[in-house]
Amino acid sequence: MQSIFYERARDAADAVRLAQQDGARFIGGGTNLLDLMKGDVEHPLQLVDINDAGLGHIEELPGGGLRIGATVRNADAARHGLVRERYPLLSQAILSGASAQLRNMATMGGNLMQRTRCPYFTDTAFSHCNKRAPGSGCDARQGYQRMHAILGASPACVAVNPSDMSVALAALDALVLLRGAQGERTVAIGDFHRLPGDTPQYDTVLQPGELIVAIDLPPSRMARHSHYLKLRDRASYAFALVSVAAALEMDGATVREARIALGGVAHKPWRRRAAELLLQGRQLDDEQCRAAARSLLEGAQPLDGNRFKVELAQRAIVRALRIAGEGV
Ligand SMILES: Cc1cc2nc3c(=O)[nH]c(=O)nc-3n(C[C@H](O)[C@H](O)[C@H](O)COP(=O)(O)OP(=O)(O)OC[C@H]3O[C@@H](n4cnc5c(N)ncnc54)[C@H](O)[C@@H]3O)c2cc1C
Repeated sequence: MQSIFYERARDAADAVRLAQQDGARFIGGGTNLLDLMKGDVEHPLQLVDINDAGLGHIEELPGGGLRIGATVRNADAARHGLVRERYPLLSQAILSGASAQLRNMATMGGNLMQRTRCPYFTDTAFSHCNKRAPGSGCDARQGYQRMHAILGASPACVAVNPSDMSVALAALDALVLLRGAQGERTVAIGDFHRLPGDTPQYDTVLQPGELIVAIDLPPSRMARHSHYLKLRDRASYAFALVSVAAALEMDGATVREARIALGGVAHKPWRRRAAELLLQGRQLDDEQCRAAARSLLEGAQPLDGNRFKVELAQRAIVRALRIAGEGV
């Protein structure tokens, strides 16, 4: 039997100090980590509970942005008045995920860090998973591929990032505030999650013992024209086959600025600035939306079991943009 030590951190500095040992892991809501521990996938030696570390607040930032602390519950963020008013896209994305009970427990930091739902990763009965056991191979390459990546995958890994929230954060140009033994740093959300390459065991650029302290949302002019569209096999309580976070700044019928991020298609939320620029200064018609969708999906390499995702994503992007364009 493996002993696990448990400590409650008093503040962020204490959390970082407690997490400097090998095998230490932070615990927020525990809705992902405990499942993976019970499934014999994750084996932390020390759990650092950060729920009393003073990271549970939402604050206004100068200029109209918001700072959301790492242990703010997903449900509290989604229904917070300023989040709903300034970033309804984030609210929608969070509410499209999991269940009410899970969202009441899950934290912002934990959601950003949740691990893939690839069954070859989560089920140890499958022996080849480079993410779980680096160098062992990838059973998904010859297996069930419906939920897997069509963009940015590698021979080592075709898993996707399952987080809905992260897709909205990508479209909103969020910043992730980190604190580690070497001090503090800020990482743009687009650089936070990684593509798998030949080291798929690393989902993010977080260093061992580094803590997510908060997520900053810059001021946005896109609240009126944004939409999160999630397509899945069941109407609720299912992960995305494809999701789209679309946000627009409109000048009448003309697009002033556009942001589009895709979920369910890659190891990280998928954005491509060139696709967004195709919409800038244009009328938001079907032809222009299709051109942006084609650009965003450029280079897609579907697997035999998920070829349908390219067309699905193409249509989802067009639909999300049209709904966002209509506004609230
Ligand atoms: C049945 C089910 C259905 C779900 N459906 C969806 C869905 O449709 N869409 C969706 O997006 N999600 C879904 N989820 C996932 C859910 O959103 C995550 O489990 C949750 O967000 C994780 O948050 P947590 O606080 O519980 O994380 P934890 O389990 O506490 O932690 C997860 C990971 O994050 C690390 N961590 C936590 N906080 C920090 C921090 N501050 N800094 C650094 N590392 C940290 C932990 O060490 C651990 O590795 C589902 C989950 C379940 C169980």
